[in-house]
Amino acid sequence: MSEQEYYNVADIFGQNVFNDAVMRERLPKATYKKLHEVMEEGKELDLATADVIAHEMKEWAIEKGATHYTHWFQPLTGVTAEKHDSFISAPMSNGKVLMTFSGKELIKGEPDASSFPSGGLRATFEARGYTAWDCTSPAFVRQDAAGATLCIPTAFCSYTGEALDQKTPLMRSMEAINEQSLRLLRLFGNTTSKKVTPSVGPEQEYFIIDREKYLQRKDLIFTGRTLFGAMPPKGQEMDDHYFGAIRERIAAYMRDVNKELWKLGVSAKTQHNEVAPAQHELAPIYAECNVAVDHNQLTMETLKKVAGRHGLQCLLHEKPFAGVNGSGKHNNWSICTDDGINLLDPGETPHENVQFLLVLTCILKAIDEHAALLRASAADVGNDHRLGANEAPPAILSVYLGDQLGDVIQQLITTGEATHSLEGSKLETGVKSIPDFMKDATDRNRTSPFAFTGNKFEFRMVGSQDSVAQPNIVLNTIVADAFSEACDVLEKASNFDLAVHDLIKEYAVKHQRIVFNGNGYSEEWVKEAAKRGLANDKSMVDAIPAYIAPESVAVFEKFNVFTKTELESRVEIEYETYAKTINIEAKTMIDIAGKQIIPAVIDYTTALATSMGTVKDVCPEADVSAQKELLVQSSALLAEAQKALAKLREVTACGCEMEEGAAQAAYYRDDVKAAMAALRSPVDQLEMIVDKDIWPMPSYGDLIFEV
Ligand code: ADP
Ligand code: MG
Repeated sequence: MSEQEYYNVADIFGQNVFNDAVMRERLPKATYKKLHEVMEEGKELDLATADVIAHEMKEWAIEKGATHYTHWFQPLTGVTAEKHDSFISAPMSNGKVLMTFSGKELIKGEPDASSFPSGGLRATFEARGYTAWDCTSPAFVRQDAAGATLCIPTAFCSYTGEALDQKTPLMRSMEAINEQSLRLLRLFGNTTSKKVTPSVGPEQEYFIIDREKYLQRKDLIFTGRTLFGAMPPKGQEMDDHYFGAIRERIAAYMRDVNKELWKLGVSAKTQHNEVAPAQHELAPIYAECNVAVDHNQLTMETLKKVAGRHGLQCLLHEKPFAGVNGSGKHNNWSICTDDGINLLDPGETPHENVQFLLVLTCILKAIDEHAALLRASAADVGNDHRLGANEAPPAILSVYLGDQLGDVIQQLITTGEATHSLEGSKLETGVKSIPDFMKDATDRNRTSPFAFTGNKFEFRMVGSQDSVAQPNIVLNTIVADAFSEACDVLEKASNFDLAVHDLIKEYAVKHQRIVFNGNGYSEEWVKEAAKRGLANDKSMVDAIPAYIAPESVAVFEKFNVFTKTELESRVEIEYETYAKTINIEAKTMIDIAGKQIIPAVIDYTTALATSMGTVKDVCPEADVSAQKELLVQSSALLAEAQKALAKLREVTACGCEMEEGAAQAAYYRDDVKAAMAALRSPVDQLEMIVDKDIWPMPSYGDLIFEV
């Protein structure tokens, strides 16, 4: 490693971002003002203004070394996409080129849309798709092996205007919650706030392993997770990794990741080890919803890219190792006004804070009425290994309020009146030199999928490699709807105070089944939830239809977030993604078992048999019962594996023949996954018997303990 480099974070933060400070400095005053009107008041951007901005953006980017620009967008593949164009114009008569970038090029792009998933929205012969500049998320210059590129965050739509990406519906949902929150605030006498925006802080979990070892595992290369692997003698049972000291190699990596992110204006804030060995977490400071979504994509890209430079590999899969804690992404969400009011801040005495109680009970209503939809928003193939598997929250949605708010709601339900709030008590450590301090009125609960944590909700179902766009689209929309319904009632009320009081009580009573403060990991909760009539969609395949349930279509159409056609296309894409992903996993298993594992076990059994013969030749009275036992055991497992391999080939071939859609996805979940498990079992047992030298790939122990 080269000499440590020290720098001042304040100097490098945002240095590659065309942010407000840069725009204020570089843009003509009138242009800057116009752009702000577009950003804040949703005014239209004229071409002349766009031309000026484009020119300045290009000049700035070229100073940072940029040769190309790209419209950076988020198609429905889960990752970002980009097509690079250089700034050079057609050569002039003197053979020189100019570097140009027009307003038109800034605001509109036209990638070939046919290679991105559209779920039947667009036939390949109608391949036109447009990217459109999202001026509320700042452009940035990314520096990497490809040189420096000006990246312009955009939305991606079809020729007919249907959303083909995550950004478009996200922005639509932000508009919905803005409008409805303002309505609600006005009812409470707020005349000053102009804009309300959801704030999001996604905590990102990931695994880091050695790249050399990674390259020896085809399963990790092709699928992002291990498909075989026996548990090492030591797992995470000692709890010694969680918050443990960060190892040097990882620390150097994190340092580099932070620096890259800071340059891009991503406020990477906390980092620590997670529960499982080799698992870590990175959290940024929260930002406006669409910016947070963009930044989370940048974070995932950066985590992967920087790992390569350190001879490491970053695994973002939700379950890279069976039997070891998986990775998720906690989506912290709140609603804030442009003048600094957080609608989710209860204040010191929540029972007196009527506006907060209305917001809170509206959220309970939203979650209760659209629980299946919110669950679906966190559906992801890899996440099926987590939800409900005693490490992530269950697939059942419930809301944790904690002691203080839980008590206020309980008072409302039982007496119709909340008269007091529980207070935090003093934390006494018993050590004189450690100052006593006031505890929070509410402890934390780590097992709830949707937990109130002080002044925000934390949605914990999201998978680690998934975009946080979907969950936020759903949250923004369903909460906007609840606000809208409340406002419909309250705007007509002759006695506002009485009406709001009644409404809060009505919502609290009606939706109390969604509140659960206990242990979400327990069997009792599964039973209790069933009694309460709460859904428990364990697999992505069961969760997907919620997108096109009548109540979902109605709420999305009401706020113009999705049309029914767009929803149907998304459902189609999700089913396809599910089947394709499992198909790749199955084929990878077939490849590894057939070409690496079975040949290795044959080598092992042959060597064993040969050595038994040799021992007997040399010493006829020698006891070879140990060798014999191993030979019998390994041969039996080998035969079992060979049979299971044949079966997996057969079911996978059938799956490929099926028509895409719900039935195919269900087939992959039931038949193909069962055949995969049947092959994995003898192979994992063989790994424990066969010589380590012969085993064709690094073990779990090698991967997660030796980084
Ligand atoms: P916790 O300890 O509850 O996980 P942290 O303070 O570590 O909370 O924050 C976790 C994430 O939540 C961070 O990304 C943080 O910026 C974000 N966060 C904090 N306050 C809010 C808020 N009001 N709205 C949205 N996100 C928030
Ligand atoms: Mg958290």
